[in-house]
Amino acid sequence: METRLWHPFANMAEVKDKPFLVDRAEGVWIYDTDGTRYLDGTAGLWYCNAGHGRAEIVDATAAQMRRLDSYFTFGDFSNEPAERLATRLSELAPMEQARIFFTTGGGESVDTAAKLARLYWARRGEPQRVHIVSRRHSYHGTNGFGTSLAGIEVNRDGFGPLLSDATRVAHDDAEDLRAAIERIGAENIAAFFAEPVIGAGGARPPEPGYLEAAAKICAEHGILFVADSVICGFGRVGGWFGVERWGLRPDLITFAKGVTSGYLPLGGVAAAGHVADVFWEAPGSLVAHGPTYSGHPTVAAAALANLDILEREDLPGRAVELERPLLEALLPLREHPAVADVRGGVGLIAAVELDGELLAEHKGIAARMQLAIRERGLIVRVLGGSTLVVSPPLIITEDEIGVLGKTMAEGIDAVLAG
Ligand code: PMP
Repeated sequence: METRLWHPFANMAEVKDKPFLVDRAEGVWIYDTDGTRYLDGTAGLWYCNAGHGRAEIVDATAAQMRRLDSYFTFGDFSNEPAERLATRLSELAPMEQARIFFTTGGGESVDTAAKLARLYWARRGEPQRVHIVSRRHSYHGTNGFGTSLAGIEVNRDGFGPLLSDATRVAHDDAEDLRAAIERIGAENIAAFFAEPVIGAGGARPPEPGYLEAAAKICAEHGILFVADSVICGFGRVGGWFGVERWGLRPDLITFAKGVTSGYLPLGGVAAAGHVADVFWEAPGSLVAHGPTYSGHPTVAAAALANLDILEREDLPGRAVELERPLLEALLPLREHPAVADVRGGVGLIAAVELDGELLAEHKGIAARMQLAIRERGLIVRVLGGSTLVVSPPLIITEDEIGVLGKTMAEGIDAVLAG
């Protein structure tokens, strides 16, 4: 039967006849409708940090739904789970007096941060500060601003004119950021967006010193530093907001995914007090922005239960402990003739980039490898048609990491053997 479900980021002509139906999940495992199990090597889309099937998240969600299923938080409306979650996140955020704006996902959070950054300057009497700088290879979601900021070209192609006040710089060279600021003029720039570890653009940890240098350059020029921690937050690279290990104190942080481990859709922006105060301390200063489900009580209840688990089991600490074993499980592939690079070592994100000549000679080979690996019981993702990426749940064991490395190698070899 042909599917009627329009899959995101899909070539429907190819997948419409054979959707891969996922039926249930438990821990680090997912099961298809035939009952075959697969190691969830990607934690869904980088989100399932606490692992699947956590009854306490389900119970907290059900209890909240019975009490107050949903209610909005526009104007003066509020609810206790949203208040509790905002307080907790504000205490965890590496910034002074953080205030938390909730959205329903990462892309909405990026657009919220971009709009808040521009509005911040407008309210401070510098309305010309609208330009936004981002990095090549970066992914900032698929909403309006995020599409314009994307450093992955294919995500911008074909949609017509996007934001003209957006510039991309090298992802690994802070001097390129400095040069762009000189060219554009700091007085015209609202913000610089950066993923601590670039995720969808190829799983690229930062060059040593890069993030610190970029943050310093922004501070020198009064440009807001926005950390897009949608992937990196909630333990994925250690810490709560994914910036702590570099000692960064961003002006704004976007988050989503791991905040609920994906059990329900939630995102948000943490704003440092010095940014938020421009709005919070100005009576009559309406911010005309916000999605319907901002502060949704049931979603907040799921997040609170998830944070309990991450904290109790110290999953952010575990991600740091396991980052070396994960990288080491893939490092033997560096010697493989089909492989150009193996990246990782900062949190539970790692990638195997295939050899350029191989990719040029064999179109679609990365996708075939992904399938061969899946047939052997492991879910990995292909990024940019060239890179196989893994980002397992933070509860994965060292033995399972070993299986992951072995299965990847076997799948790659099986495709090469034809
Ligand atoms: N920013 C980053 C860094 C992301 O990785 C993603 C999603 N992969 C987004 C934003 C967009 O999030 P969403 O898909 O929830 O809109």
